[in-house]
Amino acid sequence: MIHFFQVYKTYPGTIKALANISFKIEKGEFVFVTGPSGAGKTTLLKLIIRAERPDRGEILVNKRNVSRLKNSQIPMLRRTIGFVFQDFKLLNNKTVYDNVALVLRAVGHNKREIPKRVRQVLRVVGLEDWVLRQFPLKLSGGEQQRVAIARALINTPSLILADEPTGNLDPELTVEIMNLLQKVNTLGTTVVVATHNTNLVSQYQKRTIPLYRGKMAA
Ligand code: ADP
Repeated sequence: MIHFFQVYKTYPGTIKALANISFKIEKGEFVFVTGPSGAGKTTLLKLIIRAERPDRGEILVNKRNVSRLKNSQIPMLRRTIGFVFQDFKLLNNKTVYDNVALVLRAVGHNKREIPKRVRQVLRVVGLEDWVLRQFPLKLSGGEQQRVAIARALINTPSLILADEPTGNLDPELTVEIMNLLQKVNTLGTTVVVATHNTNLVSQYQKRTIPLYRGKMAA
């Protein structure tokens, strides 16, 4: 599903953000990308969605060489990938319903199907229908992250990338959100979680891709 082969990435004026990174993630896996702040975790995720381009090396996502995609093909790539952020990135002036439905409208989904699909993903993430009419800031952090995960799931992506998804949550909510990501994984979606939280990683016995200062750690 994801294949990095000898990937390098340097930002202007910085040391190498990533150097000689090679790994494969198979369909259906749950993988942690770990390492302290600045290790290159976010850069690695950005390369997968072509938000950044590698200087060297090959990146395949769903058998497509993402470096070679034309700009016009990038939306198609991103439609197959759901993204979850530490700070949720919900639109706070829109209702939960609109936050989740927006993506479907953007891809020209059949209008009559949209409310049904929104309710469906809301149930997957364990939220009830009353939440749909709320604005994000009325909800707890854990609920907001569930909404963000619902939004990530709405297009039935084959892959979810989560960048420090529990970074703003207390330990109890962290467990809830991690359990939800595991559930999403068991329902068939490949999940990649980037985190610096070593407790989290040791708690869940998952495969890890450890980074340290841009390199694959031993
Ligand atoms: P992590 O997610 O593990 O904290 P990042 O991928 O964000 O690591 O950053 C890796 C390195 O690249 C760091 O040294 C960071 O300062 C640098 N970096 C990240 N993004 C940029 C950017 N847009 N411009 C310049 N340097 C960057």
